Amino acid sequence: RFSTAAAAEEPISPSVQVNHTQLLIDGKFVESASGKTFPTLDPRTGDVIAHVSEGDAEDINRAVFAARKAFDEGPWPKMTAYERSRILLRFADLIDKHNDELAALETWDNGKPYAQAAHIEVPMVARLMRYYAGWADKIHGLVVPADGPHHVQVLHEPIGVAGQIIPWNFPLLMFAWKVGPALACGNTVVLKTAEQTPLSALYISKLLHEAGLPDGVVNVVSGFGPTAGAALASHMDVDKIAFTGSTDTGKIVLELAARSNLKSVTLELGGKSPFIIMDDADVDHAVELAHFALFFNQGQCCCAGSRTFVHERIYDEFVEKAKARALKRVVGDPFKNGVEQGPQIDDEQFNKILRYIRYGVESGANLVTGGDRLGDKGYYIQPTIFSDVKDNMKIAQEEIFGPVQSILKFNDLNEVIKRANASQYGLAAGVFTNNLNTANTLTRALRVGTVWVNCFDVFDAAIPFGGYKQSGIGREKGIDSLKNYLQIKAVVTPIKNAAW
Ligand code: NAD
Repeated sequence: RFSTAAAAEEPISPSVQVNHTQLLIDGKFVESASGKTFPTLDPRTGDVIAHVSEGDAEDINRAVFAARKAFDEGPWPKMTAYERSRILLRFADLIDKHNDELAALETWDNGKPYAQAAHIEVPMVARLMRYYAGWADKIHGLVVPADGPHHVQVLHEPIGVAGQIIPWNFPLLMFAWKVGPALACGNTVVLKTAEQTPLSALYISKLLHEAGLPDGVVNVVSGFGPTAGAALASHMDVDKIAFTGSTDTGKIVLELAARSNLKSVTLELGGKSPFIIMDDADVDHAVELAHFALFFNQGQCCCAGSRTFVHERIYDEFVEKAKARALKRVVGDPFKNGVEQGPQIDDEQFNKILRYIRYGVESGANLVTGGDRLGDKGYYIQPTIFSDVKDNMKIAQEEIFGPVQSILKFNDLNEVIKRANASQYGLAAGVFTNNLNTANTLTRALRVGTVWVNCFDVFDAAIPFGGYKQSGIGREKGIDSLKNYLQIKAVVTPIKNAAW
């Protein structure tokens, strides 16, 4: 009954070659110091795509040394901001030119639908680079009034060497969210990719150097969290660490930063975002949006609308229609046209999601559809829906990070505000209503970093993104992201002959 598309068929060959598997340090591709490699796998089959150099503490040292030198000796932070901006603009043009190869590599390594990578994500990466290129020569300080005869300048300077640790769910977009603002402000970077998806960052960094980036400004180390990631977070010569991933790992990163050199930290962590559908909603539209909010990117989004709260007056109709929509979802080889959902990233996530589905059944939630793997090869999971989900169930409290929609019933606005906010997370929320007062009440009452009203997952470059509570610290994208990568220096000079 599922639209299984090509899941059980032979996988389609991606139209791209893997050219870069080594670490990128000081503008050159190099072996890891240990000579070790690790395999990166095709989630459609579990087959090896390539063996990639495995960086550890020693490679992080080498990369930080290169980034430090590039920062301290220049030319990058000392270049004119206009020249930095032009390099980012040339980079964006090269991203456009290599759009299809970047998208193919992303799909191959991650499993996301090729159309999504090629038509949405890679173009967003280029757009984001142009956005930050636009900022590069508009970052400036202030002159502030003082009580005495003093000339007071507030300078905004780059923070130094930025360490950046990114996850596997949007490898290129996470690269862009981190590297774009860091470069616009004149910093240098050591970026550690997720061990599941090392390939696209290496490819795109090559383009960044083709665009004219000086050696050592961006260094990319593939490797694992407890080795390479921890070495970066605790490095004494790194001035700032930006991390995206799970809340548990975010706490480790914060602790490593504190115990080493108190480097500044920004964290973009997990979520359990409510999507609230009021009884005045157009049910068909609400079903489609709630479906997108949860199932987009195989459900592997930190901001996924993973608690679907539906008003009791439209609840039964909503559940029926949500089931019909899930049954229509096209799951299969992500390179095939028309496929909406590919495989999950790896066997660990695949097994974790199936475990949460079992928790859902055991705790008494009603399994409306799905609930099992799809096919017998790769990490495909049936689009799954639970109804009659209660707030205290594990599936309503913890991040599943997979194609599992949990539908909860409510009957009153104040009740749903309390329940939506009763979470350790506060990343995002969706609100679906035609009533302006209801929308305004909800947008103010929800303790989250983003509220999408009658829409979801709108991610323009200028919109800040980040979490309340245990969903993180700080904001990325937009003007707010620049603050993460700037130091503030006050310069005070007495004014002689102030009596004029
Ligand atoms: P993770 O948080 O462990 O990994 C994210 C990044 O952190 C990776 O680059 C990883 O190598 C690195 N890392 C891991 N341990 C580290 C350490 N001790 N020090 C420094 N860096 C370290 O996430 P995961 O294991 O890939 O996935 C687990 C869960 O995290 C998922 O099921 C999902 O719930 C959540 N997740 C959230 C996001 C998000 O965007 N917020 C992204 C990926 C995963």
